[in-house]
Amino acid sequence: MRIALTGTPGCGKTTLAALLADRGHQVIHLADWARKHDAVAGHDAEDDADAIDVDTLAQVPLPPDCVVDGHLSHLLGVDVVWLIRCDPALLRPRLEARGYGPGKVQENWEAECMDLVLQEALDGGAPVVQRDGSRRSPEELLSSFEATSSGGSLKQDLEPVDWSHRLME
Ligand code: ADP
Repeated sequence: MRIALTGTPGCGKTTLAALLADRGHQVIHLADWARKHDAVAGHDAEDDADAIDVDTLAQVPLPPDCVVDGHLSHLLGVDVVWLIRCDPALLRPRLEARGYGPGKVQENWEAECMDLVLQEALDGGAPVVQRDGSRRSPEELLSSFEATSSGGSLKQDLEPVDWSHRLME
């Protein structure tokens, strides 16, 4: 099964990916995958991050069993999307601690408040499993995702979250 592990930056993807790797899953980090397959469209100096050419990368077949860690991974050809959500009130200090500038913090904070990644993931067509990572340890979060694919069935399963009120605070 090809799993996209996605969510707004800071939501906990890489932490979960490390747990999955420990348990023997093949984890692909999207930025490395893009470099390997010549799908880097440039470098964003402000973000100090490569701009990924998703259209090119979407043409590259993924291994049949893998987890793709990255906030654009839901745009690749995957079988299921695991979407981690994070209360924006927790996300903001995580992003600040990472050294993001105020503009980038605000942009990601608003994206989380407005379900931006969820909307993109739903547009992609693969079943989406949404879980609130701000209420769970990484281990609990992994179990809650894994429980949805037991027996190989893949169904959309959106745990409700609503942080739109944070925009008014
Ligand atoms: P991402 O890869 O989505 O940008 P990270 O995995 O790097 O996010 O996590 C961002 C920060 O949040 C890290 O400091 C990490 O330790 C912390 N974190 C991640 N998942 C959890 C969790 N379930 N509970 C508490 N803190 C977490």
